[in-house]
Amino acid sequence: MIELEKTLSDLISIPSVNPMGQSVSGSNYYETELTNYLQNFFESHGLPWARQAVAPQRDNIFARLDGAVSPDNGGQVILWDAHQDTVQVDGMTIPPWTPTIKDGRIYGRGSCDDKGGMVAMLGAFIRLAEKRPAKMPTIIMVCSANEEFGATGAAAFEEFWNSNSQTIFPRVPDAAIIAEPTGLDVVTAHKGTVRWWCRTPGVAAHSSQPDSGKSAIFRMRHVLDALEKYGSEVCRKLPGHPLCGQPTLSVGMIKGGRGINTVADECSIALDRRVLPGEEVDAVYQQVIDHINNYPGIDFEVEHEPPFTFMQPLSDESNGHLADCLKSCSRKIKPDSKIVGTPYGTNAGKIIQSNVPCVVFGPGSIEQAHTRDEWLSLDELHKASEILYQFGKNGLVDSSG
Ligand SMILES: [Zn+2]
Repeated sequence: MIELEKTLSDLISIPSVNPMGQSVSGSNYYETELTNYLQNFFESHGLPWARQAVAPQRDNIFARLDGAVSPDNGGQVILWDAHQDTVQVDGMTIPPWTPTIKDGRIYGRGSCDDKGGMVAMLGAFIRLAEKRPAKMPTIIMVCSANEEFGATGAAAFEEFWNSNSQTIFPRVPDAAIIAEPTGLDVVTAHKGTVRWWCRTPGVAAHSSQPDSGKSAIFRMRHVLDALEKYGSEVCRKLPGHPLCGQPTLSVGMIKGGRGINTVADECSIALDRRVLPGEEVDAVYQQVIDHINNYPGIDFEVEHEPPFTFMQPLSDESNGHLADCLKSCSRKIKPDSKIVGTPYGTNAGKIIQSNVPCVVFGPGSIEQAHTRDEWLSLDELHKASEILYQFGKNGLVDSSG
């Protein structure tokens, strides 16, 4: 057994801030120190582990717990994933890396997203390693890098388990549980995301003679009109998903112009289109482009970069059995635990590309993730770990009564 509060405090006190694509330096950034801690953790419990370099200072770390039945003889292989990185700490109203326990909560960056979920898994993992239940499947725990900015850690799993040189995975997992704050509900569906930069070109001129140029900023206004209409009208009329609702579109960034005395020769915006299960990510990208091109007043060329984020939605079409098994464990601890969908994406969007059924489950609420005073309920931390332990005793069972 590990002491969950102690382990979570350890993890919070090791900064692992995701630079989110910015060029940064300093010991608060990247996952390396946390990965080193996890390596020692697995090693001290006598579990085989391996690191996979995803990017400089960013490794996935895997550890294996052998099941009662060998995978060669039909034993299951279950993957548990939790991500190591956190969002930045600007504007936080609590010390981000000095974990504080108060009124049944633990405060600190990552307490909820995602170190709490990681500790719930680690706690169950070590308990299973010690008790060795008779029907336990083989469980591989991965603490993944870079979830928050493109999920490149999870995108690299497949390459790892297909590699001949690794000795952690006996084969492709039969199912995966992704730790994220779900309030002990079982998430079977979530939206995907496609994000890209779109640019209007213009012609530069002196601002005293604007008629001899073409303002890229004025042109972008028409594109923004088109996109506002797309978000408010088109998205609402598209077919919805019973657990995820409607698709959405947001424009989160804009930049343009070279100076106040120059007619802008370029303007760019970053688009974020959330993709429903059942929608195709590349078709959605094209749908938005077509909408812009056909919009009244757009008689100039609008340039679209290829997507810089491309995350598949999680569909509830093939994970029902996994979800039922986990829900029946969850209901014993939290009777009103439900099957739900979420608007936000997770590593599941990458793992399902290998046809591994995935669900998302963990302690805490997404409302507390990324916040100025991020916290996690200790009660939920313990309950989540207990539920994962109960699930890990049997893995996928035929009847989940
Ligand atoms: Zn997360």
